[in-house]
Amino acid sequence: MYIAKKWIWVLLAAAVANAQSTENVIIAVIDGARHSETFGDDGHQYIPRIWNELRPLGTIYTSFYNDGQTSTCNGHSSIVTGTWQYMANDGSERPDKPTIFEYRRKQLSSPAEDNAVVLGKDKLDILSYSTHVDYGAQYAATVKAAAVDGYDDVEAMANLFDVLANQHPALTILNLPEVDQMGHTGDWNGYVNAIHDADSMVAEIWSFVEQDAHYAGKTTLIVTNDHGRHLDGVQTGFRDHGCDCDGCRHIMALIIGPEFDAGVTETTRWTQIDLAPTIGALVGFDTPLADGSAMPFNEITATLVQSANRTRATAAGPGCTVTSASSGIRISSLDARHGLVRLFDARGVQIARHRHAVTGEQLAVRWEGIAAGVRTWCVTLDDGRVVSGKTANLR
Ligand SMILES: [Zn+2]
Ligand SMILES: [Zn+2]
Repeated sequence: MYIAKKWIWVLLAAAVANAQSTENVIIAVIDGARHSETFGDDGHQYIPRIWNELRPLGTIYTSFYNDGQTSTCNGHSSIVTGTWQYMANDGSERPDKPTIFEYRRKQLSSPAEDNAVVLGKDKLDILSYSTHVDYGAQYAATVKAAAVDGYDDVEAMANLFDVLANQHPALTILNLPEVDQMGHTGDWNGYVNAIHDADSMVAEIWSFVEQDAHYAGKTTLIVTNDHGRHLDGVQTGFRDHGCDCDGCRHIMALIIGPEFDAGVTETTRWTQIDLAPTIGALVGFDTPLADGSAMPFNEITATLVQSANRTRATAAGPGCTVTSASSGIRISSLDARHGLVRLFDARGVQIARHRHAVTGEQLAVRWEGIAAGVRTWCVTLDDGRVVSGKTANLR
């Protein structure tokens, strides 16, 4: 109990103001564009505005993947929940893990209109909330559907601008359905022309953001896909998708916003399930049931996330073993005498700091008096080593 009291005291003393700018996130999903027609095309002939106008403003991720089921409902669900769930693709099944909208509404007590799903395909109304028992309809996002079952990018865009201008949501996901629809017809020109049209629409979204008083300077735009399409020579090629070929899995991601470096090409492999934790870290809510990792977007999170990922990958530093659980951490076989233990929230803000003695070659810390959520911990030992990792979910 002595330790518990100390932790609570440190927690109270460590309230740190947050200096991040992003308050709003817009996710634009171009449905079913294959990487070979987007970033993977040397001439970038179908995405001239994304490539020439938007890319210099943000960070592009050239190794970005859907590692789950490569269909529409799954791809979108993975983006908003941070989990791979195998679900029906006809809109009959909702995500079983909470969406970013539910996390945000529950943790930040935000109203429904702060969160928006703009369709696209009508079946994607499943994105507004999950079936998770602790979340669900009471934390739903608003849904703006097309008048007629909307396989129409123009109408989806009109609905998006209507929602942004009048509702001012902080979190928005947009589905642009036509690329996928044209791909399925087998009309190559129709397919690539639809990508070309979507390219302009995405550029228009950023123009709106920059000119709108509510969004300018405090909005991050994420442009990605739910899935790609088969490689040429695999099954029916670009006409279809749904398998685990590289054409179906490899997709695009571009992120523009105040926290993201401009003109950067990031080649580290990331996947759809990393977006929800990234958005949570940006906007200030935790995504405790998400399986992905926040993508680094500024100095603090870059250092922490990278070291956490490294630690997870290698399990332990040289000469010591690390056990990390939701209740605490234990670092064994240490020569050090003490370690400085620090704990950070999802946004990289330090929430606790405590010098801890090593006894019997072990440094054991129990997390007490810390609010629930995913946390990054970092221990700097007096022998110079730094060990860090991520907690699953403090309780
Ligand atoms: Zn499709
Ligand atoms: Zn395939």
